[in-house]
Amino acid sequence: MADELPSREAMEFDVVVVGAGPAGLAAAIRLKQLSPGISVVVVEKGAEVGAHILSGAVIDPVGLDRLLPEWRTEDTPIKTAVADDRFYWLGQSAAVRLPNIMMPPLMSNHGNFIVSLGNVCRWLATKAEALGVEIYPGFAAAEVLTENGAVAGVATGDMGVAKDGSPRGDFTRGMELRAKYTLFAEGARGSLSKTLIARYGLDQGRQLQKFGLGLKELWQVAPDRYKPGLVQHSFGWPLDNSTGGGSFLYHFDDNLVSVGFVLHLNYANPYLSPFEEFQRFKTHPSIRGTFEGGKRLSYGARVITEGGYQSVPKLSFPGGALIGCAAGFVNVPRIKGSHNAILSGMLAADHVAEALSEGRSNDEIASYDEAWREGDIGRDLYRVRNAKPLWSKLGTFLGIAAGGLDMWTNTLGFSLFGTLGHGKPDSQTLKPAIECQPVAYPKPDGKLTFDRLSSVFLSNTNHEEDQPVHLHVADMALQQTSEHDVYAGPSARYCPAGVYEWVEEAGKSRFVINAQNCVHCKTCDIKDPNRNITWVPPEGGGGPKYSNM
Ligand SMILES: Cc1cc2nc3c(=O)[nH]c(=O)nc-3n(C[C@H](O)[C@H](O)[C@H](O)COP(=O)(O)OP(=O)(O)OC[C@H]3O[C@@H](n4cnc5c(N)ncnc54)[C@H](O)[C@@H]3O)c2cc1C
Ligand code: SF4
Repeated sequence: MADELPSREAMEFDVVVVGAGPAGLAAAIRLKQLSPGISVVVVEKGAEVGAHILSGAVIDPVGLDRLLPEWRTEDTPIKTAVADDRFYWLGQSAAVRLPNIMMPPLMSNHGNFIVSLGNVCRWLATKAEALGVEIYPGFAAAEVLTENGAVAGVATGDMGVAKDGSPRGDFTRGMELRAKYTLFAEGARGSLSKTLIARYGLDQGRQLQKFGLGLKELWQVAPDRYKPGLVQHSFGWPLDNSTGGGSFLYHFDDNLVSVGFVLHLNYANPYLSPFEEFQRFKTHPSIRGTFEGGKRLSYGARVITEGGYQSVPKLSFPGGALIGCAAGFVNVPRIKGSHNAILSGMLAADHVAEALSEGRSNDEIASYDEAWREGDIGRDLYRVRNAKPLWSKLGTFLGIAAGGLDMWTNTLGFSLFGTLGHGKPDSQTLKPAIECQPVAYPKPDGKLTFDRLSSVFLSNTNHEEDQPVHLHVADMALQQTSEHDVYAGPSARYCPAGVYEWVEEAGKSRFVINAQNCVHCKTCDIKDPNRNITWVPPEGGGGPKYSNM
């Protein structure tokens, strides 16, 4: 089709930002605060800002305090301060609370706030627009534009392309958004960020990136079950000692509870289903009571980066930089990345504004890359750098104890372990099915536990059906001989939206991709044992439409 297409219209900006999450919006706001004359555009693949944001979220306000110091005196969606902070180990029927005094001080949630991060982004977008930032929701950046080896902006995807690749009646060519500098704020496993990391070798000399899959439901609970400001985390049941992950439960706003489960994607058993583990977790005797008499309002899933300090790639390349979770700035034991997303957006903006003021363009902002390790983000991530590797190497029980000890000693300025590496990529940790036991999960009861399809319904996910499948399987034969025959089709279990199915027909198995259900979590792009699946952005505006998530 490309030969017959009309050429794309182009628009010129000083800075293009890809992604309206906390990182992208903070960068846009900061640029305008520093120099109102800088032209800034933000493109967002969700139908509106916040539609694709899925987070816990307990936020550390350090980033907001610096970006918008007046925020505490304004009407914002940040209403619930943390009042009670609890950490539990769960056995099948027991729950043991760990005394707060045992926890390293950096794990304390005192002074933090419980929010819907999507709503915080909606509010940040109004702040950005008031400063003159142009925001284009419903447009996915699908292609990186380059000139003489440097990034020169992005192109949004063509709209109105039919399943077979031909133009539909409503066909519209994508736009070229050209810029002196382009900031990539796509969040964890950004599709363009991934290609930039490969093209410019940004991960050379770094530890590989690790991921977890976070699943979340939003509930309205009965008033007598609501404990405003309660933040509760757990590890242990329903996972075994060699499978990493844990839960969160946050009470906020008006009788709302965010409940979620993060499962580390280095798990080994291909029969494991993160979705079913999450459902099972809610049935624990110490947990289920919270939801009695309540109503489930929403559901979603998204990967979270877990590689930490040692996995952060080089951030800058000619013409642009990575910010936020596209760079992997999550503090894993705290399950917090939004503060560093804001701080990294601001840091990149400071260095880009300086370069623009010197008349520079499309060169490398090396000073941004040099600055982060010595600053707030580097200090935050350095102290917790061994928590994830220790958990992976020693299992949950010993790993959490050793990780806790390491965080304590790091608080005092030293570590017994140096800086540990991460081992294998998450795509290589599955064992062949023949070496593993199938897992029998209980049937959902429709009150506390649910199936995948009724859950996806609550994510308001929608894609234009007549468009090319945005989940690219490189080699279908390999999917059959390896993913199905060796690993027993784990995609049917790890996908939290029921996109993948192996259908048995006349003695043969057929791989079915229900792409319209995809909630853009990116797990398949990470966990497929042959790295045979690539997630690319579908038509802009498609995907989940999360509210209050
Ligand atoms: C289950 C879970 C719980 C979490 N809990 C917490 C918590 O309690 N506290 C905390 O601080 N952090 C938490 N985090 C981490 C936090 O959500 C992230 O660190 C933070 O959202 C990262 O911000 P970001 O702006 O880098 O990316 P994101 O918030 O992921 O935003 C990226 C945006 O870019 C858009 N985008 C992506 N690609 C494109 C493209 N090609 N074109 C156009 N738009 C694009 C996306 O649609 C999205 O809107 C949690 C994460 C998960 C998954
Ligand atoms: S298809 Fe992939 S990205 Fe989409 S929901 Fe399933 S695992 Fe996530």
